[in-house]
Amino acid sequence: MAQMLINGALVNSASGKTEEVRNPATGDVVDTIARGTAEDVEQAVGAAQAAFPAWAGTPFARRAEVLYKAVALLREREKDLATLLTREQGKPVRESVLELRRFGSTIEHYAGMGKNVRGGYVPLIDKGKYGMILKRPIGVCASIVPWNFPVSLLGNKIGPALLVGNTVVVKPASSAPLTVIEVVRLFLDAGLPPGVMNVITGPGSVAGEALVRHPAVRKIGFTGATDTGRRVMALAAEQIKRVTLELGGSDPMIVCDDADLERAVSAAAVGRFFNCGQACLAIKRLYLFEGIYEPFVAKLVERAKKLRVGNGLDPDTRMGPLHTDGQRREVEEQVQEAVGRGAKILTGGARPEGPEYAKGYFYLPTILVNVPEDARVATEEVFGPALPVWKVKTLDEALEKANRSIYGLGSSIWTSDLARANLAAERLEAGYTWVNSAQIIYDELPFGGVKQSGVGKEHGSEVLDYYMETKAVVMAPSPE
Ligand code: NAD
Repeated sequence: MAQMLINGALVNSASGKTEEVRNPATGDVVDTIARGTAEDVEQAVGAAQAAFPAWAGTPFARRAEVLYKAVALLREREKDLATLLTREQGKPVRESVLELRRFGSTIEHYAGMGKNVRGGYVPLIDKGKYGMILKRPIGVCASIVPWNFPVSLLGNKIGPALLVGNTVVVKPASSAPLTVIEVVRLFLDAGLPPGVMNVITGPGSVAGEALVRHPAVRKIGFTGATDTGRRVMALAAEQIKRVTLELGGSDPMIVCDDADLERAVSAAAVGRFFNCGQACLAIKRLYLFEGIYEPFVAKLVERAKKLRVGNGLDPDTRMGPLHTDGQRREVEEQVQEAVGRGAKILTGGARPEGPEYAKGYFYLPTILVNVPEDARVATEEVFGPALPVWKVKTLDEALEKANRSIYGLGSSIWTSDLARANLAAERLEAGYTWVNSAQIIYDELPFGGVKQSGVGKEHGSEVLDYYMETKAVVMAPSPE
């Protein structure tokens, strides 16, 4: 049984209730977890509150040391943690390894930023007076993460939060909390004082909401679905709490007739089928210039057909199952709705057959054409391995269609024409635009969606401001 972590100790829920975590490839129970309630949240937030003054007063260098040490410990355990992540989440082990490495480099990135935290000195227009700008930690922060990249998305939140002196209560998704608990334990092993980081498990509607509502939680870093983000934002508004919301997306990819086709096809396949299509930043709508439409689609279909689907623990697997049966049904319904309205499936559109697939939530890589522009696969986020493709005549048309979405997370354009690239970078309504590459995010650059894809930024130097209060101080040489 995997317990919660409160004030440095592994504990069960006060309610005594538990729930199961299942392997999406086999349906087997991987472990049970505590079904946390508001009472447990009270304990965790209390511990984080009590730990705050001492942690906030700890020098940056010491805080950074703990972060570096935790990453070193993570590297020693990479193999068994990657296996655990695959067993609970479903992704191929090689992708689990990438996720853990990504987490490590993100934490190290933040650990290195301590020396760059700056306040300010401002001469004022009144003679002799000057202003100071202080940067201070906020207090207790909630870090709420989904199941698709439970570990790397955690890093985006706890890295900056801990570095600048906040304390944290982590809430992982109920269906993929196990690796997160293990990773947080490594921070305690690395010397993080008890209470500075705690983990609560249990349903989002119970444990998650109690955390968001708790008056001592001053900042919520949330990654998840747009509808949940809406709820979190509404709850946070009641007490004017700070929120950073990283939500859903429906990233367009535009391929012009002057693009490097081989590379663009490869990017489209990886960008859609990585993590079985369950990524916020994934290529979810493809717009191809007429001139390259036929060869591009043929190559993409060939790649999709070759992708080996299976249990993520099998080293030959290139795409695992969907994370839950409900998730698979959702994708099936979205695809079927498009087909019912005239779309054509070029490959996939079904569950793979065979005894090895019988108990898991598998679905074949799917490519759709002739898709109505208002089909669900066009207007909603498709969180699975299905890609609708459209033909466009001009860049104007492509940009207009790409922007026809409530989402604005990532976007990409493939072209050898600098003018086209610049125009797309200017006009695509998204937090990120890649030119001739796709879906790789960098700690160095600010990341966060526009429109209904989110509010606020993670990564980049900006992120520290999202985890600190900025305070102005006026100094007068003598009392006025
Ligand atoms: P989800 O919104 O169902 O859950 C996310 C987290 O929120 C979980 O820990 C869950 O327990 C918790 N939660 C649920 N209801 C809550 C509530 N009422 N109050 C507080 N917490 C609550 O999302 P999911 O299905 O786990 O993840 C998939 C979604 O996440 C997709 O829409 C995807 O695009 C999005 N996502 C966005 C990003 C990004 O950076 N923009 C990254 C990854 C995933």
